[in-house]
Amino acid sequence: MRSDIEIAQQTEMLPIKEVAQQLNISEDDLELYGKYKAKLSDELMSKIENNKDGKLILVTAINPTPAGEGKTTTSVGLGQAFGKLGKKAVIALREPSLGPCFGIKGGAAGGGYAQVVPMEDLNLHFTGDFHAITSANNLLAALLDNHIQQGNELGIDPRQIVWKRCLDMNDRSLRNVVVGLGRKADGMVREDHFVISVASEIMAIFCLAKDIHDLKRRLSKIIVAYTFDGKPVTAEDLNATGSMAALLKDAIKPNLIQTLEHTPVIVHGGPFANIAHGCNSVRATKCALKLADYVITEAGFGADLGAEKFFDIKCRMSGLKPDAVVLVATIRALKYNGGVAKDDLVHEDLDALKRGIVNLEKHIENLQQFKVPVVVTLNSFVTDTEKETEFVKNFCEERGCDFALSEVWEKGGEGGINLANKVLNTLENKESNFEVLYDDELSLKDKIQTIAQKIYGAKDVTYSAAAERELKKITELGFGNMPVCMAKTQYSLSDDPKKLGRPTGFTMNVREVYVSAGAGFVVVLNGAVMTMPGLPKKPAANNIDVDDNGVITGLF
Ligand code: ADP
Ligand code: MG
Repeated sequence: MRSDIEIAQQTEMLPIKEVAQQLNISEDDLELYGKYKAKLSDELMSKIENNKDGKLILVTAINPTPAGEGKTTTSVGLGQAFGKLGKKAVIALREPSLGPCFGIKGGAAGGGYAQVVPMEDLNLHFTGDFHAITSANNLLAALLDNHIQQGNELGIDPRQIVWKRCLDMNDRSLRNVVVGLGRKADGMVREDHFVISVASEIMAIFCLAKDIHDLKRRLSKIIVAYTFDGKPVTAEDLNATGSMAALLKDAIKPNLIQTLEHTPVIVHGGPFANIAHGCNSVRATKCALKLADYVITEAGFGADLGAEKFFDIKCRMSGLKPDAVVLVATIRALKYNGGVAKDDLVHEDLDALKRGIVNLEKHIENLQQFKVPVVVTLNSFVTDTEKETEFVKNFCEERGCDFALSEVWEKGGEGGINLANKVLNTLENKESNFEVLYDDELSLKDKIQTIAQKIYGAKDVTYSAAAERELKKITELGFGNMPVCMAKTQYSLSDDPKKLGRPTGFTMNVREVYVSAGAGFVVVLNGAVMTMPGLPKKPAANNIDVDDNGVITGLF
């Protein structure tokens, strides 16, 4: 069997200007980054402004195993299948981070015969957007430390600096550092921290901003520190807005590439799905809707995190309205949810499947709370047995839920035709009455409780003393009407990765709360959440190489 990267490298790509032609985009409106990648110009964005919107399809998943359950693979394969059916479709995805590429999970270009190419470029530097975001983040950090060094006119309390430096790398040694060591001219000594670039608030802002104007408005509101008397200090106070926005000027243009079957793919932005909202940029999604009849987009992690934030943060803020949801399940994740160890998932185990399928059931119910029609798809693995597949199919059909087996990993677009037809049928016959889960006016605590009880299935929520204090402060500062961005483990509906299946009667423990004032949400941390991951014992990086001809191997 060929590896993902071999399949990708053996595919003949079309020049990107030909891919663009499928969407009636002329070469004039492309900013080429070589032959196979392009950014979409600001002029194009204005030209298409009054086009009719296509249908918006969100791809999400049940609680996954640590390997990922194929949301990106399914999104890409579904797009390819639409292409095979002669439909005008665009896939709108996130840009991969180098952290997982070199760590455990690997890249984010899909898999098998449902991939985005050139996959090496996409997974590595791509068009430099992450570089721009990292630079903007670190410019703000440099301006902040410099302000203190130059006399600290604003009265910034060095013990209350909340802005962190960032880097797009899994590097645990940078989680806690001391900066400013040396002599007087080398800065003020203080404890500092790094987050991975995809966890930077700049990334979240970048993905939520409508245009440059809105980008600047949001950047200006970032809270970087508090003064000795407890007042917030913003990026605007440091006079940093303009220069940060200048660094992001090109990055905010969406990127166009293609699938293995030449379907257009817009890949743009890539925030974490825990401390941020976990989906591609609003600009890219909106642009895709103007260009195609069907837009397929993905939200990170399981539906409890990714889809909830897609709806309650991204759609709430941007006015986007999803028309249908595709919920990805795998036999291996269902068995994992039924208590089977990671290494035993390849064996048929109907009992475990029966125990674990309650996880799928809860996600179906959750998505129905947002009043969007749901199609369940089983991402088929070669190890799945007929009995197992049949069981999942019956389970869905007994609940009146549309079901399709997806074989896109093995067969590309051809393997997704069933799913595409189910989705088309749903779009035609079922109406989306999309609603957010809670109102802006609810208190922050009521919002947290609503999500915990209605989506996670929790009994109640407790708060640490620090979280209580911070919630009070954030509300007093006037941020109480913002949506909440819940950060917790992706492996369970609860905040405990060991509570699999469909846990009930549990208590959520809110440990920490802070406001991302520029992004426009309040982050709520439940349990330990990593904003600077580390590398595993055997990092994927150890198998990655490039030969004398510049051909990369080992990426996946
Ligand atoms: P997600 O987007 O949900 O995190 P991905 O689509 O990135 O998941 O898939 C995770 C990994 O699993 C990728 O390496 C991909 O190649 C692999 N994968 C996905 N679907 C299948 C499948 N049906 N069979 C085998 N491997 C798969
Ligand atoms: Mg993915």
